[in-house]
Amino acid sequence: MVKAVVGANWGDEGKGKITDMLAREADIVIRFQGGANAGHTIVNDYGKFALHTLPSGVFYGHTTSIIGNGVALNIPLVVKEYQDLVDRGVPAPRLLVSDRAQVVMPYHILFDQYEEERLGGKSFGSTKSGIAPFYSDKYAKVGFQVNELFDEERLSEKLDRVLVTKNVLLEHLYHKPVLKKEELLAELIRYREMIAPYVCDVSAYLDKAIREGKNILLEGQLGSLKDPDHGIYPMVTSSSTLAAYGAIGAGLPPYEIRQVITVCKAYSSAVGAGAFVSEIFGEEGDELRRRGGDGGEYGVTTGRPRRMGWFDCVASRYGCRVQGTTDVAFTVLDVLGYLDEIPVCVAYEIDGEETKDFPTTARLERAKPVYKVLPGWKTDIRGISRYEDLPANCRAYIEFIESQIGYPITMISNGPGRNDIIYRNS
Ligand code: GDP
Repeated sequence: MVKAVVGANWGDEGKGKITDMLAREADIVIRFQGGANAGHTIVNDYGKFALHTLPSGVFYGHTTSIIGNGVALNIPLVVKEYQDLVDRGVPAPRLLVSDRAQVVMPYHILFDQYEEERLGGKSFGSTKSGIAPFYSDKYAKVGFQVNELFDEERLSEKLDRVLVTKNVLLEHLYHKPVLKKEELLAELIRYREMIAPYVCDVSAYLDKAIREGKNILLEGQLGSLKDPDHGIYPMVTSSSTLAAYGAIGAGLPPYEIRQVITVCKAYSSAVGAGAFVSEIFGEEGDELRRRGGDGGEYGVTTGRPRRMGWFDCVASRYGCRVQGTTDVAFTVLDVLGYLDEIPVCVAYEIDGEETKDFPTTARLERAKPVYKVLPGWKTDIRGISRYEDLPANCRAYIEFIESQIGYPITMISNGPGRNDIIYRNS
């Protein structure tokens, strides 16, 4: 049985917590896309952790954690992340890394920085982790797969070829120091030594695991609206954030993904540039940011304050649809307990017309939110474990949103911890 945990919105919906929670029953947890550019925050018995590349199953002794071929693999960062966990008392996780995963090269990170500098005010708000240059090279077929680190002669030849174009750009476009082949080769050999213990033919491993009936969890990064095809292009990430891509980025049959758990946060937040229709500003936004998440809504990787907004039914319905949602996990609901009234964006007004359909980017940038204001519940709902025990206005908020997005909310998260969860059969 394969399940996917993915985001409906701009990311930071609380996927890490839901994955960590569901990993209790999983044999294998897989990251299938993205890289170290975003992070998950997980709170459990070992403490509070920010994971960037390791799957959120690493805290359980019984799970195997896999980094699939679709991930942008920053080898020194993964190894450091692994070591940090062990240093903090987490039992050494069983980790496998696909031999087809591609390696984030030191120059990908440089190119990311240089390009943002060059674009100045028109930048994409990249986290400068090398993700866009990495995926550009992957699809331009000048990337390096993990297995290529193990054939030094071929590696050296390929580096010669690839560095020709890199150095032209460095010298003439960015006016930066050029790359030296020997230094890079030595660095890649260090990478090889670091990653060697974990390298595996992941899709063959998964084929066997599926035949043995193992429980497999695919863990997405970011959310639907950051998908390069279905998101707010070009303010998107560089790899698909959709559950469907789990089949490709892990290497398993698409029909094996039986459950798609799409995580929706009870209000909105976004990082980076791009249209954000239900965004709020000033004291209203600052207060939600301060109270949001677990200790405030600030980027896990960058520490940047997140942009805040009310729940957006238009974006979330669309976000759930493109994921192929079977279940919605509705998270961080406890945070809204301070509000007298809670606006919810139920439609967009674009060029004088109201719509509930999520538009393409140029129209999205002209959209204005149409709000419906719901009453707040004005109590702390943490610690409640049965749906019936939630205040009536809180249930009304959940049920209103469920009717707007059109997908069943079967899990409600009312705190950052593993056990802060309310299951519901709708
Ligand atoms: P991810 O990238 O989707 O995993 O999202 P984040 O790591 O940004 O998670 C959102 C933040 O909210 C983290 O700090 C979590 O610990 C926290 N969190 C997750 N679920 C809940 C919840 O139900 N209530 C509260 N208060 N915090 C939560």
